Amino acid sequence: MEINKTLEGLNLTAQSIKTKNGEYIITGKLNGDIEVECVKCLKPFKKHIDEDIKFKVVKPPYEGFDQEYDIIEQEKFDIEEILKSEIESIKNDFLNICESCEKEEFNKEF
Ligand SMILES: [Zn+2]
Repeated sequence: MEINKTLEGLNLTAQSIKTKNGEYIITGKLNGDIEVECVKCLKPFKKHIDEDIKFKVVKPPYEGFDQEYDIIEQEKFDIEEILKSEIESIKNDFLNICESCEKEEFNKEF
């Protein structure tokens, strides 16, 4: 199945495949500009996202381990929920630092 979904400026284009044991394999790309808050000055700024994703959606409880895929536990497969939680984790990234704070850090070091 083709997935093409945009939420808060973040676009997910991916392919999903249902495996015979009811899991979903999702591979594709996340890209866009998403508004996040700088961890230093707390000002909002746009962060550019461009990353490959490899998810495996499984029913909880999941006790396995997977080296190739990021595991997502979902009772019912819901791509919007997955995209929402990706946005949440991008917003909560402690490395969200705006350009002017980054420059300041750079000037301090040298
Ligand atoms: Zn800042």
